[in-house]
Amino acid sequence: MGILENAFPEYVVFSQLDKAINWARENSISYLTMDLACCGVEMAQVAGGRFDIERFGAVAQVSPRHADLMIVAGTITYKMASRIRQLYEQMPHPRYVLSMGSCSNCGGMFSWEYSYSAVSGVDKLIPVDVFVPGCPPRPEALLHGLITLQRRIAGQRVLVRDELSVVRGANGNP
Ligand code: SF4
Repeated sequence: MGILENAFPEYVVFSQLDKAINWARENSISYLTMDLACCGVEMAQVAGGRFDIERFGAVAQVSPRHADLMIVAGTITYKMASRIRQLYEQMPHPRYVLSMGSCSNCGGMFSWEYSYSAVSGVDKLIPVDVFVPGCPPRPEALLHGLITLQRRIAGQRVLVRDELSVVRGANGNP
């Protein structure tokens, strides 16, 4: 901080910087889609002209290394679980996860308590920031989930006084 060191209370300097950085972050979300079952059909609609998710500043990415949001939509089989975890770990920080639909939220009809084949919620594998309920949720519900995440990002404190490069996600991961 140089000459600003101890010149102002911490919140005076950093709160405005936080707002500027968060404004950019919340309006430039790159998302990676995990289309695992029928919820994926509804998820795909948001990229079209009718629902147009890009007007909220969100664009799709094909590589996890370029994404800061993973949208998990559909039934998670045990076979896919390790892939989801691996892709999540390849995403840069700060990273977020949106769970879309009952299957992804809690296993849905396939794994409410126990299943030989399906995981009872993506939060058993990776931290989740927003859950969107429904079977399936409509595209409007997914957009509402995105706006909910944007509001969370807007309220985050991203700069830490002695570690300016440290940015934390909504789920608490550094
Ligand atoms: S929540 Fe319903 S619509 Fe979505 S993947 Fe599961 S069964 Fe299909």
